[in-house]
Amino acid sequence: MSGGLLSIEQAQARLMAQADASRIEDSESVALAEADGRVLAEAVCAAVDLPPWPNSAMDGFAFRHADLSRQPLPVSQKIFAGMHPGPLQPGSCARIFTGAPLPPGADTVEMQENAELLEDGRVRFAEPLPVIGRHVRPQAGEARRGEEVLARGTRLGPTELGLAASLGAGRLRVVRRLRVALLSTGDEIVELDQPLGPGQIYNSNRYLLHAWLRRLGCDVVDLGILPDDPAQIRTRLDGVAGADLILSTGGVSVGEADFLGQILREQGELIFWKLAIKPGKPLTCGQYRGIAVIGLPGNPASTLVTFALLARPYLLRRLGVERLEPLGFEVPASFDRLTASSRREYLQARVNEGRVVLHSNQSSGVLRGATWADGLVEVPEHRSFRAGEPLRFIPYAQLLA
Ligand code: AMP
Ligand code: MG
Repeated sequence: MSGGLLSIEQAQARLMAQADASRIEDSESVALAEADGRVLAEAVCAAVDLPPWPNSAMDGFAFRHADLSRQPLPVSQKIFAGMHPGPLQPGSCARIFTGAPLPPGADTVEMQENAELLEDGRVRFAEPLPVIGRHVRPQAGEARRGEEVLARGTRLGPTELGLAASLGAGRLRVVRRLRVALLSTGDEIVELDQPLGPGQIYNSNRYLLHAWLRRLGCDVVDLGILPDDPAQIRTRLDGVAGADLILSTGGVSVGEADFLGQILREQGELIFWKLAIKPGKPLTCGQYRGIAVIGLPGNPASTLVTFALLARPYLLRRLGVERLEPLGFEVPASFDRLTASSRREYLQARVNEGRVVLHSNQSSGVLRGATWADGLVEVPEHRSFRAGEPLRFIPYAQLLA
């Protein structure tokens, strides 16, 4: 704890424990083309050997390696991809193309660039001669029939779908979509079809989160905007049915119009509140009538950072994903930090010529910095440093998927 605030690791651990206790067990079968972004509910095992038969990795000539001592070799057959060749005549070679099955009896391929076609139609191979097995993709070299190739809990993306397709898996069993009830709070927040009145701002968090939740494969029920009125918030929460998570923004700090924590404390359970991070300090986590609640702070950059670092891994863990740590890498800072911060900071940053540079406006109320940035840079708490200090940079590509 840092001055009564939870560290991000403590908050993540508590959220993961909550997620583990409420993993989604239901699954559905979906066509491969519809499976992008979903999470496997059961492992994918190879239904066939991959490749199903030995084949050539090159355009060239296939032969038995032992016959190289007898070269030049006559060409006894020509094998294109998709053909089903008969056995190789002993002492000969076969003209072969990439992806074509090796004829029984052949064990090696030499690429055509290293082969010379003689006047009499025979082929001589250039030194150095290939080693046995060269340019042959062996049967089951990628996967043996029955072998697990994608584990349960794997998040499916283009590469996983490609692999499943190469095994002929036309449908996959995936965890059912999470149902997220999305709620925006604040007397000042208006929808985009309204003209802005005095003191009002447009609801940006709704669009940020809705798009992100869709990418995470969630079904989103939009509960709209609620005023800063505890009775109305409670009534709306009471009306939520069948959601796995209530995700709200705003109304979580200690201002006089911040009611979510209060409602959870009185009518539900407040699991934690307030983190030692910047932006994003007043994150609220709890449950209301048995439904998990995550209340993100309303400032758009705070919403972004807390969703990326806490809500996103929580949602994925509920779907059964184990590997959640976003890949980051260390980049030397381009700036000094002469006064240590008591909270860990996540700043909008780019990597430029091997150094991490910051957007000029790091206000938690500002989203423009995030559209400029390629990721977040983590600035450790309680540490001052000079330019050159290695800092962890987490690309948005890791977080926004
Ligand atoms: P709050 O967490 O309610 O104290 O809000 C913090 C800041 O975020 C205030 O400036 C709010 O106006 C702003 N804010 C809250 N909700 C939204 C929203 N949905 N879209 C844009 N800004 C918001
Ligand atoms: Mg508010």
